[in-house]
Amino acid sequence: MVTLIGKTQHDIKRGEFMAQRFYNNTGNSKVGEAIIIAEGLLTPNSKMIEAIKNKKDFKYDSGNGSHIASELLEARPIVRINFYRSKWPWSAAIGYVNSNDSKNMYLNSRKIEALTISDIVGWVLHEWSHLQGFHHGTGRTANYKTEDKCLYSVPYYLSENVSKWFTISK
Ligand SMILES: [Zn+2]
Repeated sequence: MVTLIGKTQHDIKRGEFMAQRFYNNTGNSKVGEAIIIAEGLLTPNSKMIEAIKNKKDFKYDSGNGSHIASELLEARPIVRINFYRSKWPWSAAIGYVNSNDSKNMYLNSRKIEALTISDIVGWVLHEWSHLQGFHHGTGRTANYKTEDKCLYSVPYYLSENVSKWFTISK
């Protein structure tokens, strides 16, 4: 069972939330679970949305917390989550998005076994927030996870904190 931590506790069951943002094109059940959680977090009054609204110090031209929360809550065309297989087995990449293709996200199938549901939720929210126009800097260090990016950029704020906003019990 998945429980979102918030003002009101939501028990998330398959189908409780209409698929609004994500389509599982991988056929993988962990990705399916992660999508349900991500959809649940992207609802008004979830712990995640409340945390974003109350955060005053986002950088990277993101706007203020309530602006970011409403951007994230706004309904948008469905994004497909697809598998790809990295060329190199030792590639560290979990996945990627292309800035010119807002309808697809690509998850490295080599990584799926090692990833927890929480990791996948964090990845989904991070990459999806990029597709919504949030960023954490460009240039050579764009993918380097600095403390500044983790604390003050929307993509890393989501992926670094996601495990605080829901619990999974068996
Ligand atoms: Zn990123």
